[in-house]
Amino acid sequence: MQTQVQNETIENTIELAKLYGILKYLPDGQLTHAPFSLSPYKISAADLQEMTELTAPFSELMISISQNWDFLEHHLEPIAKIDPFLRMLMDCRTDEITQSKQLLVQRNDFFLIKDEHKKTGQAGDSPESNFAESALRQVELNTVSASFPFLITQISHLHRYLFKQNQLPEIIPNNPLSPVVDAFAKAVRDYGSPDGVMLLISQPSEGNRFDQLGLEQLLWDEHKISTVRKTLADVFEGGCLRQGHLVLEGKTVALSYYRAGYTPDDYRTIEAVKGRQLIESSSTIQVPDLQMQLAGMKKIQQVLTRPEILSNFTSAETSKHLLKTFAEMHTLDEIIETPGGEMQAAEWVSGNPENYVLKPQREGGGNNYFGSEIPKILKTIRQDEQNAYILMEKILAQTHSAVLVVNGRAERLTSVSEVGRYGICFADNGVLKSNKDAGYLVRTKAENINEGGVCAGFACLNSLVLEA
Ligand code: ADP
Ligand code: MG
Repeated sequence: MQTQVQNETIENTIELAKLYGILKYLPDGQLTHAPFSLSPYKISAADLQEMTELTAPFSELMISISQNWDFLEHHLEPIAKIDPFLRMLMDCRTDEITQSKQLLVQRNDFFLIKDEHKKTGQAGDSPESNFAESALRQVELNTVSASFPFLITQISHLHRYLFKQNQLPEIIPNNPLSPVVDAFAKAVRDYGSPDGVMLLISQPSEGNRFDQLGLEQLLWDEHKISTVRKTLADVFEGGCLRQGHLVLEGKTVALSYYRAGYTPDDYRTIEAVKGRQLIESSSTIQVPDLQMQLAGMKKIQQVLTRPEILSNFTSAETSKHLLKTFAEMHTLDEIIETPGGEMQAAEWVSGNPENYVLKPQREGGGNNYFGSEIPKILKTIRQDEQNAYILMEKILAQTHSAVLVVNGRAERLTSVSEVGRYGICFADNGVLKSNKDAGYLVRTKAENINEGGVCAGFACLNSLVLEA
């Protein structure tokens, strides 16, 4: 059996990818295939099992944080004071509870670190520290707009077909699409309104439209539930409240699924802000609700790396396990241990920028600062703006050789792979009703690329194979 697709068949493979709906729009509106890999990423059974087993406790953690407004406010309010986006989001909170049912569709993204770092953890960690033992390092957990359930399911169909053709090894089966769609259908039924629809909140121009369309189609095919697709501004302009229900185009919105609303760009107009407020004031089930969205902020991720804080939300045993997967995270004004003694983190990172990533409270790719960008941006950050950023240790991911197909061209590159696990969790007023893992996402990119966007053309959708 061959382990890679031969050059002459790449064109056929691209055509097949298009046939499977593995598509994206380029900024100029042209339709092309989404970037994909022809070299599935090898993972050990133990690492895969660990990652899969972590999904439920991480979902539970996000649900319990979402129930603790005081905690969210304590950590986010100081940032909201200087960040109009966060201010606006936090101000969308209404005191009245209009919907107690929660549905979290999350994706927890990890890198697997290089073998030589496994035993002793990352640079600066002692062997007995909490960061030892696990090969997993969490990049972030996405509580809002966890994308690619459709495209990655289609990639697994493509890779499976190529396996049957003896062109690829057998991949680990993957289908996050079905459980996500089934969860949406259950939420719509739970809402209890006959003929309730799903509102898909989209960005005004969306390159990743096909990933959303695949979900909408399956929701219709399997459950006969239709989708109304609107931007936040459309919701304000066309929506109204009827006895607490959000009504659009004459239909009751049982479920509002955010594929927008996580970046300031989505709130550029007052109409868009009012659209969000209208949704918040209605009884629609939101995926995610505002508190769950806030629970996924990078500031909260950083705070949770502190064992004494994490232990308020999970059992001692679970805390211990989660902590093993956390990379070091700091605030800029924190005093940290360095080889030369204690130092302020901002000062230390200025001299060692290659080992860190500087992150503002933003989602959706392209917002982080890497390496030599860090000292430059640090110079522009005022003291009172410092807590709007978190500093994260750069994760040194395992590298592997991969054939990556981007925009019609295939290239073999030394690559790294980010592996995410989807999680689906139902709760009512914070009480868990069901909580499960729902499959994986792999994004493979050249080792020297910092950011990871698939639609931006940096990262390629991929599958997993079990290490022999
Ligand atoms: P976003 O919310 O924009 O997706 P992420 O935290 O996921 O933000 O960062 C975007 C990308 O940057 C990731 O997909 C990953 O490729 C890279 N990245 C983020 N944090 C780290 C890190 N600590 N070490 C190495 N790469 C990272
Ligand atoms: Mg991310």
